[in-house]
Amino acid sequence: MTMSKTKVLIAGAGPTGLTLALWLTRLGVPVRVFDKATAPGETSRALAVQARTLEFHRQIGIVDDVLEAGLKIEQLTVHTPAGVAARLPLADFGRGISPYSFAFALPQDIHERVLITHLERAGVEVERGTELVAFQDKGHAVIATLSKEGHMETVVADYLAGCDGAHSAVRHGLNIGFPGGAYEQSFYVADVKGRGDITRNGMDTTISTYGFAIVMPVRQSGSIRLIGIVPKAHQADETISFEAIRGDVERDTGVTVDEVNWFSTYRVHHRVAENFRVGRVFLCGDAGHIHSPAGGQGMNTGMGDAVNLAWKLAAVVQGRAEPRLLDSYEPERIAFAHRLIESTDQAFRIATSRSRLVGLFRRYLMPKILNIALRTSYGSSAFFGVISQAAIQYRAGPISSGTAGKISGGDRLPYVPMPGNDNFEPLRSLDWQVHVYGEANAEFRAMLASTGVPVHAFAWSEAAAKAGLQRDAAYLVRPDGHVALASPVQEAAGFQRYLAGLAIKPRTAERAPYRVPGTMHSLA
Ligand SMILES: Cc1cc2nc3c(=O)[nH]c(=O)nc-3n(C[C@H](O)[C@H](O)[C@H](O)COP(=O)(O)OP(=O)(O)OC[C@H]3O[C@@H](n4cnc5c(N)ncnc54)[C@H](O)[C@@H]3O)c2cc1C
Repeated sequence: MTMSKTKVLIAGAGPTGLTLALWLTRLGVPVRVFDKATAPGETSRALAVQARTLEFHRQIGIVDDVLEAGLKIEQLTVHTPAGVAARLPLADFGRGISPYSFAFALPQDIHERVLITHLERAGVEVERGTELVAFQDKGHAVIATLSKEGHMETVVADYLAGCDGAHSAVRHGLNIGFPGGAYEQSFYVADVKGRGDITRNGMDTTISTYGFAIVMPVRQSGSIRLIGIVPKAHQADETISFEAIRGDVERDTGVTVDEVNWFSTYRVHHRVAENFRVGRVFLCGDAGHIHSPAGGQGMNTGMGDAVNLAWKLAAVVQGRAEPRLLDSYEPERIAFAHRLIESTDQAFRIATSRSRLVGLFRRYLMPKILNIALRTSYGSSAFFGVISQAAIQYRAGPISSGTAGKISGGDRLPYVPMPGNDNFEPLRSLDWQVHVYGEANAEFRAMLASTGVPVHAFAWSEAAAKAGLQRDAAYLVRPDGHVALASPVQEAAGFQRYLAGLAIKPRTAERAPYRVPGTMHSLA
């Protein structure tokens, strides 16, 4: 038995564990990330990458590689047995809300590969064929036992993150319940090559009175994803083959399948763990929540958990914040997981209900409602906000405070485009910062200088007003781009109190201030 030490030990190298490892590495925290699988996954699984995830990827400098690898989805075409019921534009449906205002698809295996490449460039190798077999929280550290090819290793870590998926060994080890249930219907997912009346760079959905089917481009090579409900006659068959349901799939999707790369059926569960944290051990991603694939939220939510935890862990292990900053992880993320389960559950029940009335609603009214919603700016903004996760907020969380304009502590910092740049650019520092839209007064700047938190002043603009910001108000922004404290007035004492309350010290206190030429001024 060998013994070693690390700061953060990450069990599971799916999208959640990889995101946590990469953020912590960028933040300068030593990590070890391992997976019991001997190689990364090779199937497309989560395809939808939401705008909020792309915003996080921009912060750590990997968004260009992700965008390069995937496909923008420009349109959703809704088919019913009577023909095309609606063509919904998705190319820019979040205009003004996010720099990534479109729907975007990237197969999970390629997405993971991008994360792995960046981790490797930063000198971190994922340890494969390595399984977490036991762990104990000793109060001052976590002692974990890893098994690799029959060899046992003891690792002493400051913290353990369970990013080990739906059957999480970490969740079981903590004895945390995973209440919820499973839906009655099972689903098929196929990655195929085929022909048919499908929208190029778009997504097609067929809505019928008995269910739905979805067709989405998967790879730049031209393969496509088919998703739908397993026909009733085969629901009980767990070893079903594609050939057994080929006729139903081709009829429902309108695709003639030439080649099947991957086919799977699965039963969807909806569950949220009772806790996301016990002492020095955390749950993130599918280990903490699983839900229907409606809306493509699962993987994105896991990555969001990872980002939320990463900057807090980094601050605590580097002595830049009180350990109780970590207490905010569970309430912020578990509340979102519950909201998500509720909304995906509703969407899923409407999409799969066998009730004749719901079937008629789905076939005749739903395409019309979607059509009207996505063609008005209010409707498309509201739809984008929910689906893209740009509307995630932690207002009720323990470290959110104040309101200025329409923005409250806990909200995601709204996006403000400006000529040649935007207000998200300084978020690349992965550090605390204050934003003022208008004029930052000299006394406020001078007083905040003692905290080391830089003040970024952006010219007041119509876009800032539209985003709900208040002119000359001040917003303390967290390293993950959420507003911590929103103050209608530039009163440094409130900001100093907030920072002192959690003993927050910024990473960049010693560094030169960030500057975007011509658009803003920054002072540490
Ligand atoms: C068919 C399908 C389609 C989907 N479509 C979408 C979509 O469009 N959009 C979306 O957002 N989500 C989608 N999802 C969900 C998405 O795939 C998951 O939410 C995502 O993979 C969760 O990531 P994770 O890293 O939390 O867990 P996982 O990807 O499950 O990774 C967990 C890792 O932990 C490892 N592990 C487990 N136990 C141990 C142990 N004891 N020691 C070491 N390692 C361990 C596993 O080997 C695994 O690699 C889909 C899922 C499926 C199955």
